[in-house]
Amino acid sequence: MTDCIFCKIAGGEIPAKEVARTDGAVAFHDLNPQAPVHLLVVPLTHLENAAATDSDEGARAMAAVMRLSVQVARQLGLEGTGYRLVLNIGKQGGQSVGHLHVHVMGGRQMTWPPG
Ligand code: 5GP
Ligand code: ZN
Repeated sequence: MTDCIFCKIAGGEIPAKEVARTDGAVAFHDLNPQAPVHLLVVPLTHLENAAATDSDEGARAMAAVMRLSVQVARQLGLEGTGYRLVLNIGKQGGQSVGHLHVHVMGGRQMTWPPG
């Protein structure tokens, strides 16, 4: 999608602090981290959010994103302590960027319920 910031990051058109990439997804540091480790993992293809993944193509994109999410969590040393994966969907879900992304957050104790 032409006017999508995460499509541009996935395509290398705008810079990001990338930590890993597969043929289906890319992981990079969040611009405004809310935890000592705060990465975003996005599919290379444009999908609005997790609610748009109920299709064969969507399921493949989601699998690529989830797989890379646990790989980068391990890569950044979060596996022993635990960490949180977050998917915000739509307005009340707190989604601000309309391209599917998983937040990989760790390095501090998470609380529940989230804000
Ligand atoms: P959402 O609120 O949609 O779940 O999360 C969007 C996230 O994208 C936010 O945590 C925000 O800090 C991050 N973000 C927004 N624009 C950029 C950007 O240009 N680069 C990076 N690395 N992160 C961004
Ligand atoms: Zn996009």
